[in-house]
Amino acid sequence: MTQFTDLGLAKPLLKALADEGYTTPTPIQAQAIPGVMSGKDLLGIAQTGTGKTAAFALPILHRLAENRKPAPRRSCRVLVLSPTRELATQIGESFKTYGKHIGVSVAVVFGGVKYGGQMRALAPGVDVLVATPGRLIDHLQEKSITLDGVEIFVLDEADQMLDMGFILPIRRIVKFLPKSPRQNLFFSATMPSEIEKLTVEILNPNPLKVSVTPAATTVDRVNQRVLFVEQTRKRALLAEMFDDPAFKRVIVFTRTKRGADRVAKGLEQVGVDAVSIHGDKSQGQRERALAQFKAGEVRVLVATDIAARGIDIDAVSHVVQYELPNVPESYVHRIGRTARAGADGSAVAFCADDERGLLKDIEKVTRQRIPSFDRRNDRQLGAATAAMPEVAGKPERSAQPHRGEHRPQRNRNHSAPKGAGGHHRPDAAPARTGTGERSTSPGRGRSSRGGGQRSSSSSTGVWSNR
Ligand code: AMP
Repeated sequence: MTQFTDLGLAKPLLKALADEGYTTPTPIQAQAIPGVMSGKDLLGIAQTGTGKTAAFALPILHRLAENRKPAPRRSCRVLVLSPTRELATQIGESFKTYGKHIGVSVAVVFGGVKYGGQMRALAPGVDVLVATPGRLIDHLQEKSITLDGVEIFVLDEADQMLDMGFILPIRRIVKFLPKSPRQNLFFSATMPSEIEKLTVEILNPNPLKVSVTPAATTVDRVNQRVLFVEQTRKRALLAEMFDDPAFKRVIVFTRTKRGADRVAKGLEQVGVDAVSIHGDKSQGQRERALAQFKAGEVRVLVATDIAARGIDIDAVSHVVQYELPNVPESYVHRIGRTARAGADGSAVAFCADDERGLLKDIEKVTRQRIPSFDRRNDRQLGAATAAMPEVAGKPERSAQPHRGEHRPQRNRNHSAPKGAGGHHRPDAAPARTGTGERSTSPGRGRSSRGGGQRSSSSSTGVWSNR
């Protein structure tokens, strides 16, 4: 089997990998690293959990190590675009971890935080800039950064970008990039036609193509079941799950932000420690909740799909889907949270009567029949529901979108939403109008997956390891 030492990577990178305890490349790493090291463009069909971050970070760092030169002022040598702040932060941390013996400078910028710190960090130039599209466009418009120095461009999670309405911002950003010579790495879990179009616009002809972990592979590794239950009894059913000590570190998915808060509150009321993350929480709140969950201080993280996308948390014992997602592909992404880096995991989905159609769609897309158990008309659940205290606020009766509420679009053959109206976008495109900015509290207790010193606080939305 190929080892990292067989790939010709620079010594300081091998040392960093050894520090992490990584010896064997994952399939996407083994296939992508040699080609990207030699300067080829890459089209990678892969989702998180496959090791795709290292598949691009390692060969990029190798190229930087081979060709040392100062990063141009107010610019970067490598630009990575990521759909969410959480994923951007993780990518930045990976670059820092793998590049710690090379001494590269890495900065991460995202929206929802103040601009000043980001501008100062970008002023001297950085080797690697990881950014979310909306905030990057702001910086480009303000001319606090230029992309003239970009040698390598990475677009990560392109299909997620499409879902979040970022395709136009990406096209605008690409216009700021130097035409050639530029190496481009493009990653997407799925290939809807709009994404395929974008690959042609961005990649040089004849890119290296690597496709790993089709949805079925994750699906196969996860022990799944569906529980049929009345919508009104889901709360009691969820509480019952936590009688089982095997439910050690659990992510519960809800369809709406309000639902996430209610479910977390409901769990707290029955003595199960839970925190929620979603797009209405400030960056500081999200970071704190994630840190608490990662540290094992709370047993449950309740999340909406967009907030949880790309989050890399090890050893999640169970994923519970409190409501089924409207988009079948989200089911696969959700259960993938528990089967990280080759591990197995368990996933439980609650299905009310009006969600049967969604279940059918999921089974069609994943080409499987999920074992199901009927808990409807269950006396014990009925009694438990009657005995439960009310959760403050309006109850969520139906799993289906309420009238006027945004219904996520399917992954395939759909166009970007017009404007931001009703469409939740954690990193909304340019909205630099003072009050539009959320203030954040210091990013306390954030875990970092590697060595190196961070010179500025994550609460500014930027850090670098200079
Ligand atoms: P990613 O798909 O990039 O989100 O990576 C998923 C997880 O796998 C992360 O926690 C990585 O740190 C981990 N990982 C990446 N490459 C390897 C490897 N070759 N061996 C073991 N773990 C890895």
